[in-house]
Amino acid sequence: MRLSELQTGQKAYIVKVNGSGAFRKRILEMGFVRGEEVKSILNAPLKDPIKYEIMEYEVSLRRSEAVMIEISMLAGDVRNETLYREESRSDEQFITDTEKNNGDETEYRMPPYKNNGSHPEKRIKVALLGNPNSGKTTIFNLASGAHEHVGNYGGVTVDSKEGTLRHNGYEFTLVDLPGTYSLSAYTPEELFVRKHILEEKPDVIVNVVSASAPERNLYLTTELIDLQVPMVIALNMYDELEGSGRTFDYETFSSLIDIPIVPTVGKRGEGIPQLLEKVIDVYKKEEHDYVQIPYGRVLEKSISIMEREFNSIGSAAYAEWNMPLRYICIKLLEGDSDIEKRVRKLEQKEKIITRRDKERTYIEKLLREDPEAAFTNARYGFIAGGLKETLTEKTLFSDKTKLIDTFVTHKYIGFPLFFLFLWVMFEATFRLGNYPMEWIEWLVEQLGNLIRNNMSEGPLKALIVDGIIGGVGGVIVFLPNIVILYLFIAFMEDSGYMARAAFIMDKLMHRIGLHGKSFIPLIMGFGCNVPAIMATRTIESRSSRMITMFIVPFMSCSARLPVYILFVSAFIPKYGSLVMLGLYAFGILIAAFTARLLRKTAFKEEETPFVMELPPYRMPTSKSILTHMWDRSSQYLRKMGGPILIASIVIWFLGYFPQNEERDAAFDNKIAMVDAQYDRNEISSEEREDMVTEIEHSRNTSHQENSYIGNIGRFIEPVMRPLGFDWKISVSLLSGMAAKEIVISTMGVLYTGDSEDQQSLQHRLKAESYSDGSPIFTPLVVAGFLLFVLIYFPCVASVVAIKEESHSWRWALFSVLYSTGLAWFIAFLVYQVGSLLI
Ligand code: GDP
Ligand code: MG
Repeated sequence: MRLSELQTGQKAYIVKVNGSGAFRKRILEMGFVRGEEVKSILNAPLKDPIKYEIMEYEVSLRRSEAVMIEISMLAGDVRNETLYREESRSDEQFITDTEKNNGDETEYRMPPYKNNGSHPEKRIKVALLGNPNSGKTTIFNLASGAHEHVGNYGGVTVDSKEGTLRHNGYEFTLVDLPGTYSLSAYTPEELFVRKHILEEKPDVIVNVVSASAPERNLYLTTELIDLQVPMVIALNMYDELEGSGRTFDYETFSSLIDIPIVPTVGKRGEGIPQLLEKVIDVYKKEEHDYVQIPYGRVLEKSISIMEREFNSIGSAAYAEWNMPLRYICIKLLEGDSDIEKRVRKLEQKEKIITRRDKERTYIEKLLREDPEAAFTNARYGFIAGGLKETLTEKTLFSDKTKLIDTFVTHKYIGFPLFFLFLWVMFEATFRLGNYPMEWIEWLVEQLGNLIRNNMSEGPLKALIVDGIIGGVGGVIVFLPNIVILYLFIAFMEDSGYMARAAFIMDKLMHRIGLHGKSFIPLIMGFGCNVPAIMATRTIESRSSRMITMFIVPFMSCSARLPVYILFVSAFIPKYGSLVMLGLYAFGILIAAFTARLLRKTAFKEEETPFVMELPPYRMPTSKSILTHMWDRSSQYLRKMGGPILIASIVIWFLGYFPQNEERDAAFDNKIAMVDAQYDRNEISSEEREDMVTEIEHSRNTSHQENSYIGNIGRFIEPVMRPLGFDWKISVSLLSGMAAKEIVISTMGVLYTGDSEDQQSLQHRLKAESYSDGSPIFTPLVVAGFLLFVLIYFPCVASVVAIKEESHSWRWALFSVLYSTGLAWFIAFLVYQVGSLLI
């Protein structure tokens, strides 16, 4: 029977997980090991995914994934049977003589993990490691407290945060690492954490274990034990364990694994001093003894054979990997890609790989399961054994989570509740955020005026007023949006609602190859693409995150709205709202198309399956939410500020230069003539006013026309011609790269000489014609233009955001080329095909 066939409310036992690679490994690690009890709790409103309970926590699986898991309705502790099965290897003939004489095992052990002898500086490097949602960040923030020095480590896809604190005369450097379920080499997070341990060599590792689901959390601990690193366990969420009415004899468990365990309640800061003291104790220890996870006869035999194999080639070969030999052998047998890559670089790789393959075959044969599952089973077996003696059964159910979930993931009210929440979030972010945004704009304007009125004319003044102040303004206006958005996102993430939102949206998003979590950034994109792109962080899987990032710009942000409104009210007033709706819908269509395209090409593989933990609901602390909010906002300013500012200055520069003094003098001359006419009483003061405005407008127009950007616009005009766009449209689109609403102000300058006056711009646009009298803005040109504005170049700030979030200029550039190319192509189709038809 398959897990997907299990009816809601029914229980069964895992028999086997089919499939391969990352998907299977993750499922196994999440606790779907042989013999484990699993219960189907609930279907998402769209019947997919399904929520299961296993190892006392909740997890959601897609139906297509649940199909891969074989179950049996009969209880039977298959797991223990596997672990302790006494099978003897009948294939001894494969083992050579040297291997047969069982050498002294300790001889093959790595030298114990050394830290710097006498510790004169009293500085301790501590890394926080644990499952997602175990409370690492809470402990990190609390411990590093006011002394927080936040440094961002640009990994490929993941960040870690660093902070320092003092305790008992020691200085601790804490590093908050991304959450992982294991240390296999499948996800970027796992590789990052592994690399951090091996390369940064923290003096002590604090393994944060959530006491609310100890069994699964301890899986990572078993991997750390294999890695033989100095470690302290923070048994976090101890309040939840106590609240559930259970008892955990953690001291006994601690002696079993020979690792100190300190119960903590991260939320309230309880147990943190004790934790730090234990860290100091471990740090001071000169020699570390490490227990070994017993993998059972069959696996142990294979491990020791592999150890001998390695020893025969000499330890120099792998010494620099900095890993215990036992660990290398276990990982190699498990088929770990990172270790295998390393081994394949060795001279004697043939010998080792051949032996490894042989051993894997043995394991399969003897245990009737593949090595990957065998090792995972053994680890869980070890944990289960230890917990059996020390942890009492669940007596009291925490029903809070179940109660909330009956509403939040309900068939009928789940979606309305979610959309209500989204609506509140959207309104707050963009409507409420609008007020501070206006204040900031006002302040920026005042500052600009102050300088405008107190500085002499010239390029420097223009640079300060229009380039720098304008640019800085362009950066900080988004700040209120980002602060508010992150307030909500932090709340969603910390409370556990984010996982539910992804749970109910997953089926829909899956249609375009994405994860339920992609929905929120996409919705935020309608407000502003920049915070939306930043919000893609919540998506764990890199490929889904990248795809989401690329398609966010196709969500019509509010900056595009003024362009739509101007054109729609000038040319299509009758069907205005219909056209606008169509534009939004078309954007969504393009996004869906792009997502599928990327899924089929650049990001074929989903590195992580949907298996998603649904953590119990927890009331987030205000401190954690504020820290989160502050982090993101300051990060926005630090990371995006510079590039956006530079880009704004560049675009200002292209529009301002070159200056032409002769032309200026000519305009000054004309104004002087008008003034002279007025002085001679030939014209009234109103007439003079009008004429001067007219002259100023043509000065602006002519300046814009002859500026670098005007020249570039004319240079690219041939490219835009097939779309029916003339050079003025081209220039406007070019300057719209800074921000899409700038398309309008540029058109204002080009057509009327005034960037503000929309009324006359509308008239001018309608009247604009070629020299033969035919109108420039035909319906086809308007349609193509609107679509072009929708699709082309995400604004500078978005491109910078994509660069920052993807950690690659290449992808940012790709996004620019793809969107602009697509915009051109679609406008081309509209104009050319339309011209044929009409
Ligand atoms: P991380 O993913 O490991 O960094 O976990 P977080 O630090 O983000 O914590 C996840 C959630 O658990 C947040 O809602 C925290 O407020 C909450 N939390 C952290 N520590 C405790 C604790 O000791 N007890 C309880 N009840 N909740 C906690
Ligand atoms: Mg965290």
